[in-house]
Amino acid sequence: MYQDLRAEAEDGIGAEIFALTAEIFPICRSITGDGVRETLRHISSHIDVDIHEVPTGTNVFDWTIPREWNVRDAYVCDGSGRKIVDFAASNLHVLNYSIPVRKRVSLRELKQHLYSLPEQPDVIPYRTSYYAENWGFCVPHRLSESLREGFYDVVIDSTLKDGALIYGEHVHKGSSDDEILLTTHICHPSLANDNCSGLALLTHLAKRLKGKNTRYTYRFLFAPGTIGAITWLARNEDRVALIKHGLVISGVGDGGGPTYKRSRRGNAEIDQVMAHVLKHSGHDSTILDFSPYGYDERQYCSPGFNLPVGMFQRGQYGKYPEYHTSADDLDFIRPQHLRDSYTIIRTALEVLEGDRRFQSTLPKCEPQLGKRGLYAAIGNEKDGDSKKMAMLWVLNYADGKHSLLDIAERSDLPFAIIRSAAETLFEYGLLHV
Ligand code: ZN
Repeated sequence: MYQDLRAEAEDGIGAEIFALTAEIFPICRSITGDGVRETLRHISSHIDVDIHEVPTGTNVFDWTIPREWNVRDAYVCDGSGRKIVDFAASNLHVLNYSIPVRKRVSLRELKQHLYSLPEQPDVIPYRTSYYAENWGFCVPHRLSESLREGFYDVVIDSTLKDGALIYGEHVHKGSSDDEILLTTHICHPSLANDNCSGLALLTHLAKRLKGKNTRYTYRFLFAPGTIGAITWLARNEDRVALIKHGLVISGVGDGGGPTYKRSRRGNAEIDQVMAHVLKHSGHDSTILDFSPYGYDERQYCSPGFNLPVGMFQRGQYGKYPEYHTSADDLDFIRPQHLRDSYTIIRTALEVLEGDRRFQSTLPKCEPQLGKRGLYAAIGNEKDGDSKKMAMLWVLNYADGKHSLLDIAERSDLPFAIIRSAAETLFEYGLLHV
């Protein structure tokens, strides 16, 4: 599988992920509604997706599936009939989940429903009002400040009706029922990094796993933030024990980070694996402890579940100025960052797939490698010297207690080299499981 990984790094995976990101970018999504269905249709053109619709009013733990929101059009016209804010230009202009409205308002009333960022006067902020009935428009502060006294016609042609919450799942069967959960949120409208990038990356990851033999079963979940994760957990409570490792993924196309946030357990295998992979990734990465604020790790790591699920992204959410604004567009993300994020995640999965505990068959003193032709066997390999060191580390620590990842950490060598050395030693009969 390592060979595959190296090949993939060069074969345009970044461009493929970027292309799907750009394809789904224009869709107006929310926690419910047709935008989620349409996005899942695009994903389904690459991988098989089971689409689940959970009706409005269904109780999921302490929450209730809300009414389904859809919007067709929205605008603000000034006194001369000129459209000064138009949903057709950007779906961020509508306060997400706005109730329908069609009326003439004073400037004073209009301003009570305008959302802007004084510190970033040229961008449109992304705002939602899921659980409090409201209507509103998100606009550049410069526009809001330029409005004159007078009357304005506001129209939001939206509907809030009984419908469903929608999420999609794709499962790649491994030789074991033990699962790796990979999940990302599908509820944000036209924001490229947060989170068209996450949706596109996981889609292409699933696509490339197709036909590969894996040890773990992989569950890919495309669900609306918070309520989607809560719904999935409520409907799958009896099977979450199968989840051995998990990652929440979002914002993987910007050049920041990379950032990994540990699971609530703090020392789960996925936490060790991500720390190891990031240390050897060549990036200046940041590792954060768990906190009950952020993405859906909050639900997976709630105390009643406490699953070994961490969160991966590039720049930290909320800390880059483009975050949750119209500046998070397709120019903000780059194929090479998508490729690097993909490689980090893929490498972490390779570690999980390949981590084992071996025992040396000759634990008393070093086995004589020369007479077995082992030095010659690796003499011509590119990383021959590291592999020689790796063999010594593996032979010494293959005591049934240390995993290959433990040995990689102890030796400060990348897991791939330790694993490769272990495979060679196994072939030569110097290790057993
Ligand atoms: Zn977000």
